[in-house]
Amino acid sequence: MNDYQMEQRETLQIVRRHLHQIPLEDLEKQITAYLDFRQKTARFYNAHIEPVCEKKCFTTGISGCCTKDGIIVFFADVVINALQSTTRQLDHLELAIDSPAPGGKCIFLTQSGCAWQVKPIVCEMFICHPARQQAFAPSPSKAQEWKALEQERKTFTWPDQPVLFERLESVFLNLGQRSTLMHIHKSPGLLRVKQNRDR
Ligand code: SF4
Repeated sequence: MNDYQMEQRETLQIVRRHLHQIPLEDLEKQITAYLDFRQKTARFYNAHIEPVCEKKCFTTGISGCCTKDGIIVFFADVVINALQSTTRQLDHLELAIDSPAPGGKCIFLTQSGCAWQVKPIVCEMFICHPARQQAFAPSPSKAQEWKALEQERKTFTWPDQPVLFERLESVFLNLGQRSTLMHIHKSPGLLRVKQNRDR
């Protein structure tokens, strides 16, 4: 098992062990708003981006999904997914991490598809440059709609203000838990964003 698999497994296990200790009543509103945002984004993606990706990469076999060990997962991605998963679904995710399918693709890509119920935010919102061009060039209003979704994403993930992704890390830090996926508390770039906000 490589470092990437180990940090994913360790984080998932921490989250599973302590999920029942999350003060859900305090966070419920923000989590609901985030899930609404994800549904809205998925609808847009399915309608306007997926047809482009399907034709360009999936059917030609250029890429069925992102590259191996290439997905940046945030701690909050793991928590939110766990809240939306059954025990069986989390076991399936853990198994995918332990024994990824051969083929050098993303470790979470199983025979039955992505093992996440709410996939990491980077997967939801990544669009490569050619797909962006093809999907948006004929329709500038669609490009604007996507930009608005990217702005909305920041209200949950970008720590220039206290955001859900930061709060979920803090809850576990307060429980004495640490993970390398707590990027908002560990990444020098994001720590700088937080420092600027607190000035
Ligand atoms: S986590 Fe899921 S959606 Fe994201 S690249 Fe892997 S298989 Fe695809």
